[in-house]
Amino acid sequence: MPKPRMIEKVVTDSGTECQHTTSILSDQHTNKVKPVVVKKKLVKKSLRKVHPVHPINGKSRASSYERVTNSTCKKAKINGKLSYASIQSENDCDASSSVPSLASNFSEELDSSESVQIAADDESCSYITEEECDAKETEPLTVSSDKAEVFQPALRFSAFSGVPPYLNFCLHDEKVVELPWIIRRCLKWKLSTITPIVVRKTVVNSGFRVIKEPKDWIGTWGKHMKSPLFTSILEHQKVNHFPGTFQIGRKDRLWRNMQKMVAKYGNDEFGFLPQTFVLPHDLRLLRKHWSRRTTDVPWIIKPPASARGTGIQVIHEWNQLPRKKPLVVQSYVKNPYLINGTKFDIRLYVFVTSVNPLRIYLYENGLVRFASLTYSTEMNSLDDLYVHLTNYSVNKHCEGYVANEDANVCQGHKWTLASLWTYFHGLGVDVEAIKSSLSDIVIKTLLSVTPVLNEMLKNNVANRYSCFELFGFDILLDADLKPWLLEVNISPSLHSTSSLDLSVKGPLIKNVLNMARYQFPNNASSLSKEHLANYISTYFKERVCEKSSGSDEGSQYCHDPSCTSFDLNEEETKKHEFYENIVQRSVSVPSGSCWTVQNQCPENGIDVVEDTNILDNLTRDDIQHLIETEDELSQSSGFTRVFPSENSERYFRFMEKISYYDMLLNEWQKKFGCLGDRTLAIDYLKSHHEKK
Ligand code: ADP
Repeated sequence: MPKPRMIEKVVTDSGTECQHTTSILSDQHTNKVKPVVVKKKLVKKSLRKVHPVHPINGKSRASSYERVTNSTCKKAKINGKLSYASIQSENDCDASSSVPSLASNFSEELDSSESVQIAADDESCSYITEEECDAKETEPLTVSSDKAEVFQPALRFSAFSGVPPYLNFCLHDEKVVELPWIIRRCLKWKLSTITPIVVRKTVVNSGFRVIKEPKDWIGTWGKHMKSPLFTSILEHQKVNHFPGTFQIGRKDRLWRNMQKMVAKYGNDEFGFLPQTFVLPHDLRLLRKHWSRRTTDVPWIIKPPASARGTGIQVIHEWNQLPRKKPLVVQSYVKNPYLINGTKFDIRLYVFVTSVNPLRIYLYENGLVRFASLTYSTEMNSLDDLYVHLTNYSVNKHCEGYVANEDANVCQGHKWTLASLWTYFHGLGVDVEAIKSSLSDIVIKTLLSVTPVLNEMLKNNVANRYSCFELFGFDILLDADLKPWLLEVNISPSLHSTSSLDLSVKGPLIKNVLNMARYQFPNNASSLSKEHLANYISTYFKERVCEKSSGSDEGSQYCHDPSCTSFDLNEEETKKHEFYENIVQRSVSVPSGSCWTVQNQCPENGIDVVEDTNILDNLTRDDIQHLIETEDELSQSSGFTRVFPSENSERYFRFMEKISYYDMLLNEWQKKFGCLGDRTLAIDYLKSHHEKK
């Protein structure tokens, strides 16, 4: 077996993802919305049944529907091929690294000039220019198999009245009921150079048009942007990043941020990253450290901002250290936990829906990636990447690499995380203890950067509606099952060529988009809004609500940026100041009710104990935050919310400043929990919501 050399550039197989367009996976997560089931052969009829008449003009929709089936379908695809090539070309690599000239985890300092790899077109998605879109009445509703098709509702409603409907995202291999064109025309998704195919399929099947350079859009899935670029995002648009997350997405920044936390709170709490030196800055420190070693301990060297194992080497001699380029030199975890004699690492998916308040979800499934050759600590094995690296993009080149298509079976060199837990259960391993250390690492890593994320968010983003982020955390378990954080990816690979990948990433994306809660843009045309109002009054009578005076008919069903603005009124500002002062005064946060406070009575200067609770007088802004929290939680199947949770208060001491919103959600979670039946929480909130 020839040994692999250091990989400078990984060749990618492009365009193979579309082979999986017809593989039907059952969504194991509960759908809160009722699907409409129709038989393929009855699709046209059934659609007419669903929309018997045009919701506005009363004409049969059959004509417009039939007009767009076969001929338009072909034309759109041909045009799509001519106009665009699919740009996705990664191979289980983290998405931003599919652009060769751009270091993967994206650095604000790096050159952002892209050289785009062109991959094969994906037949199942429609990519057309905005002009082409506008020229057509609508695109085809392609039906791919003889099986019964499940049409999901296109809209999803909040548990609370008066909240504009959310767009309902279905799985990549499902479809939503088609909305009338005049409404759907504002559902534009901006195609980026790295939009993964699974995301494109999900959004297209959920009623969006994917457009390369739309004049306006409401969603996009792209690589991280420099912070100032976030200022150009409009109030009705959402991007899949927060400004500043390169602070954990780059290996050198992650270490620096973690070092600060170790200095403040100690190694026992924050010592989950292998010791690291960032060169050239830490060269002398590393030299000192190196000379003190008594044994031949290996080090792993990595470029500060790359992925897919690019540029990584395991070394043990000082003269193997490249001097000229910036480098991360990390202590090598020499005793990894082995399965069948090989090393593996875990990919965790972490979804942050909000930074203030901090809301973190951990996806219950993930991936386990194995090295393809038996592990060895022999010095002469150190340059064998198939032994020491677990990246798929490295190991797939090894002759001995065995693929695994089965999400439920522990075989080959890739497993699902669920399979690993089953395997561990079989060995009697305490899986719950590992899971709890994993969520501890996730929370603490994010806490190390929340102050800076918050600052960047306030300075660069106009509306809190606009950002969310899905992270990929890479974890290595050592022989004692202690988890070590290797890196955080801010554009985790969503490449899904195998059915195993698709079974993890398909539901992941659907749930992420639903939890992100997209709404109709408030800048839609009056005509579109009017049609939306008519559509809702026809098909969702019970959800009809009054428009506010002076606004367009239908605007009550569109996103209202004032509800998600950072601005507060006087009453809200006072309440924030009051609670933030209390907490800053009570230096260490007690475990019980930290908001039962001793207050100075201004008249007589005597201390009085004032029993006050942040949930007592909910402001309009409080209610809005709690509604968002509950609506998001209702869509979180497959995820566990790890912050806030019943352990939140344990983490307050690691926060530079406990924000008002973190206190609010902590109290809410203490009162109503975050698992199981939400009836009590919803009823409580409804009663306050109606009063406001
Ligand atoms: P990349 O972003 O290029 O994937 P990683 O930091 O994830 O870089 O490293 C690639 C692989 O190298 C990991 O998947 C893991 O198998 C191995 N590795 C990385 N750091 C260490 C370490 N400190 N000790 C042992 N193995 C490591």
